[in-house]
Amino acid sequence: MLAAVELLPGRVRAALLDLSGTVLRRAESVFDPTAQDRTGIDAALTEVTQGWRDAGPVGVGVAAVGIVDADVGVVVEVNEVPALRGYPLADTLAGLVHAPVHVEHRARLQVLGDRWFGPGQGRSTFASVSTGEVLGVGILHDGRVLAPPGGRSGAHMKVSAGGEVCTCGALGCWKTIATTAWLRAEARRRGLTEMDGDIMDGELLDDYAGNIALGLVNIQQLFAPGLFVLHGEAAGERFRTRIEERLRADSPSGAEPPRVLVNDNPVDDIALLGGAGLVLSRQ
Ligand SMILES: [Zn+2]
Repeated sequence: MLAAVELLPGRVRAALLDLSGTVLRRAESVFDPTAQDRTGIDAALTEVTQGWRDAGPVGVGVAAVGIVDADVGVVVEVNEVPALRGYPLADTLAGLVHAPVHVEHRARLQVLGDRWFGPGQGRSTFASVSTGEVLGVGILHDGRVLAPPGGRSGAHMKVSAGGEVCTCGALGCWKTIATTAWLRAEARRRGLTEMDGDIMDGELLDDYAGNIALGLVNIQQLFAPGLFVLHGEAAGERFRTRIEERLRADSPSGAEPPRVLVNDNPVDDIALLGGAGLVLSRQ
């Protein structure tokens, strides 16, 4: 049995899974992200791992937001949650579950979910892409997740010499043109109306796909992962095709021609599957 925990600002999700990635048991708890002390976080972790010691998982994989020190399993910093600064996540969970605990940054981990349970099975090199409200890329290269200390998940790659101001304060980040926030703003700018949250305009969706591809083209140029697994905002076959065509047009010769696949796992399970994959990768 595998155990996975997802730590978000104010929320903890957890699951026990079998070796095929099927969720056997789930738990969820909330805490006050603005609290200055750690008691709420401690209590939430205690609650979601109840009974795990008896279940005896081979390990716990944790997908954590913010900046983490994966080597020692400590949260370095989460902007929205002051009490998580320096939080000993691995030690705390090891004390609760009595099993080895591995911690990684959430956005990078989904590549291990795809590697063990999704479209990346059997591959040692590919990329996994979050799209929608959040944007990020995890890269598996020769069987290892590219995760240098201080490295990020790509949302703030610069894709324009000028461009819009990003939430990070810089100009021209990929995030400013390739999330659903951009999609909504651009729809308003073009005078399009939202239909139940879906923006149906084909031209706008093509532009959105092109903007996502803009970041992925750089990943392909640098690492030639060959396969890109899309999560989240998978807006149909035309969307997938558009990204794949753009990638192929810009791919260096000699590289495996890039393919784009869609992983339509429930969004809530992506990080948990990544955590379970992390446990398998460390066996
Ligand atoms: Zn930025």
